[in-house]
Amino acid sequence: MRRMLVAGNWKMNTLRESAGVLAGALAAAVPAERSAVEVLVCPPFPYLTTVGDVIAGSGIGLGAQNAYFEPPGAFTGETAVEMLRDVACRYVILGHSERRHILGETDELIGRKVAAAIAGGLDVILCVGERLSERETDQTEAVLDRQLNAGLAPVDAEAMRGVVVAYEPVWAIGTGRTASPDQAESAHLHLRNRLAERYNAGVAAATRILYGGSVKPDNAVSLLEQPDVDGALVGGASLKAELFLPIIEAAEEIVAR
Ligand code: PEP
Repeated sequence: MRRMLVAGNWKMNTLRESAGVLAGALAAAVPAERSAVEVLVCPPFPYLTTVGDVIAGSGIGLGAQNAYFEPPGAFTGETAVEMLRDVACRYVILGHSERRHILGETDELIGRKVAAAIAGGLDVILCVGERLSERETDQTEAVLDRQLNAGLAPVDAEAMRGVVVAYEPVWAIGTGRTASPDQAESAHLHLRNRLAERYNAGVAAATRILYGGSVKPDNAVSLLEQPDVDGALVGGASLKAELFLPIIEAAEEIVAR
């Protein structure tokens, strides 16, 4: 019922040439017919068009790493949802922990961005996740609840069709330290139960929940085979085709079981 999604978050990496080369290697390996798993790349804003041109016609979709909630206007340095649609983005990542904890984005701001993205026709990957100190003080579920409630505040059951949730424990992002499969499954199940309470069982069953945090080829199967893990949001390993492609293959292998 839930199609696996493997999404690459390139963060503030690549230059125009290397972005095109990476996109080309991925596009060559993921033709449109290879559709058991949905694949997405989210390059930096300046390279969205370059990458979009390279992956056009392949089995790889295009996403952005952020968006602003206002329509085009006097907001220096920001990027409107309409602009992302204009360069063929289908998805936008919102609430990434680097935006929450380095750039200071609040739950409330993220909720406004989610509302604008959905209203503007973009699908949203809403990231939630606890910091290490929060996990160590048994606040993981409270943090996930707060971030989920605020991020989904403007989203009704119908609009949840355009929302993917990503569980990304902050202590596992870019650290090489991964949540164990049990830790991931427990957090995902908690989120799914919250979706059932907030909406209904159908929405909870249909919403994809990705895991993110140091996903690599050697841990992908054990994470992706958890029953409530519906794909991966991949940072570091999405920057090398030889690491990203095996993660897609791991997802395909699980789908084929
Ligand atoms: C991310 O940035 O969303 C992420 C999961 O990064 P990494 O895979 O490098 O931990």
